[in-house]
Amino acid sequence: MKYLRYSHNNEIHYGILEDDRIYELTGDIFSDIRKTGRVVPLHEARLLSPCTPSKIVCIGLNYRDHAEELKIPIPDSPVVFLKPSSSVIGPLDDIIYPEISRRVDYEAELGAVIKKTAKNVPLSQAMDYVLGFTCANDVTARDLQPTNGQWTVAKSFDTFMPLGPVITDEVDCTNLNIRSRLNGKVMQSSNTCNLIFKVDFLVSYLSRIMTLYPGDVIITGTPGGIAPMHPGDVIEIEIENIGILRNTVKKA
Ligand code: MG
Repeated sequence: MKYLRYSHNNEIHYGILEDDRIYELTGDIFSDIRKTGRVVPLHEARLLSPCTPSKIVCIGLNYRDHAEELKIPIPDSPVVFLKPSSSVIGPLDDIIYPEISRRVDYEAELGAVIKKTAKNVPLSQAMDYVLGFTCANDVTARDLQPTNGQWTVAKSFDTFMPLGPVITDEVDCTNLNIRSRLNGKVMQSSNTCNLIFKVDFLVSYLSRIMTLYPGDVIITGTPGGIAPMHPGDVIEIEIENIGILRNTVKKA
């Protein structure tokens, strides 16, 4: 299924997308899925971030070529950092270019959305804890990101975590083409088969560090080809069979 979150007539709902129609759900997408019977045409809804994570757990340097372009050695355990919930925006929102940065980059990433509370999950059961997958853009103030040290400032500005447009459980996360386009030009192009640490490993590994809650998102790292964006640019993150996450960069 393809899940989304949207506002319509000043109300916010979760829904299921089928053939450009949204089937409104009662409650959220993390318990029993129940349709209310109301259907909204996709073009009448305003799409929001498809979930509201309590935290976004991010994996750095999870594609070999990206570690090489940053001139950082390939890690032998995952590089983990967090983005705050306040950085999340949806597919129709703008990325606000912070006044204190001189270089803001896109990073196309596969996002895995947690389905149920996960703590100390064995590797063999890890995928039972994943609701589905979404497109993510790990927006980064590159000039504020030290190569060895805290990345929090560089990664945490409001609007630096675009997610969407949908969460889908209809894909094989180990083999998905992933791409970014800046003003229509392809900048990154890879496949999730190139991930150094895979989704099931990450869910299990992270759940031994912190409890993962329904709606939390693990973003799995970006392939090579990062570059800066500027106010006025349109950045698209496209993942095969998930969709296109498109945001515009605006001056603060
Ligand atoms: Mg990243």
